[in-house]
Amino acid sequence: MVNNTLGVYIHVPFCKSKCPYCDFYSVTDISLIDSYVNSICSQINYWGKKIKKDVDTIYFGGGTPSVIGTEKILKILSFIKNNFNVKKTAEITLEVNPGDCFFLDFEKLKAEGVNRISLGAQSLNDSQLKILGRRHGAKDIIKSVDIIKSAKIENISLDLILGVPEQTYEDIKTFADFCKDMSIPHVSAYILKVEKGTPYYFNKEKLNFYGDDKLADIYLYACKLLNESGYSHYEISNFAKSGFESKHNLKYWKLNEYLGIGPAAHSLIGGKRFYYEKDLKKFINDPKVKEEENFEAEKEFVMLALRTKWGIKNGEYKAFFGKDIPKKYFKKAKKFESFGLVTTAEDEIKLTEKGFLLSNYIISEIM
Ligand code: SF4
Repeated sequence: MVNNTLGVYIHVPFCKSKCPYCDFYSVTDISLIDSYVNSICSQINYWGKKIKKDVDTIYFGGGTPSVIGTEKILKILSFIKNNFNVKKTAEITLEVNPGDCFFLDFEKLKAEGVNRISLGAQSLNDSQLKILGRRHGAKDIIKSVDIIKSAKIENISLDLILGVPEQTYEDIKTFADFCKDMSIPHVSAYILKVEKGTPYYFNKEKLNFYGDDKLADIYLYACKLLNESGYSHYEISNFAKSGFESKHNLKYWKLNEYLGIGPAAHSLIGGKRFYYEKDLKKFINDPKVKEEENFEAEKEFVMLALRTKWGIKNGEYKAFFGKDIPKKYFKKAKKFESFGLVTTAEDEIKLTEKGFLLSNYIISEIM
């Protein structure tokens, strides 16, 4: 592995209610929070003895990490600090639901090192927030940004869902303008996907989901607005002002090492990927990881690198695999160049914004 530091991901699998589009692993039974936190802490202790690397990013994701409240987040954080050497400059991110901002103590969180908040805003239109089954309104988002900024946490990321039924171009502009006006340095904009097994999937005939062409237009429109406001489109769904790219997520996309703890959390260590099962009770009673059997590092490297604006670079590829990027990849990538989907140079292959929209197909063709 190229990078000698470690990212730590804590999966917090609790939500106050389930959103109908979501297929992330989470439960609404909050009676298990205490046992969950105890299990997380003992797993941190276990891994701390095995892995001797400096930690430079920590990410609390979910689920909804804010649901467990300030004290429990800080308890987990102190366990990480006691069991790993956490760098003073570490990026520490907490995912927060705007409905929870009113009871979190951001000043305390900041004092203990939390320096980045990822706010699950999703939309600034109340009727779309309703369609999305979110438990917060637009006013909560605006207030949350104020509260977080008052605690002097400037590194804020807002999530935006693109392609919500009834969403208009004006809605996207309102969101992009808000981010610009509030000096929000990072935006994650995801195209809504109707995932199998979700309530959206079972009701898809009743809900007027947009077709692929319209979704592509909406995506490219959002890209244009955010680019014009000074955000760099650095990964398919991520936009940042200079220097505010998510350091933790970059570890995933650059195949650097990370340790994931919690039900459904994945790790990549020593060239192997492993995971805890999506089972909270099992995580509490018998936490064990399983190795991912079909993990192919090269395939993963190319796939993830092509999701970023940097694409695959020969130097990075060689550092990982000890050889140049295979010529056949260039040959196949060139097929897409005349359609404006890919750009190639002597030592790199990149997807364009239009290419991002067809990334799965292009990547499978290139490989
Ligand atoms: S709050 Fe987040 S994790 Fe929980 S159900 Fe909604 S989208 Fe999924």
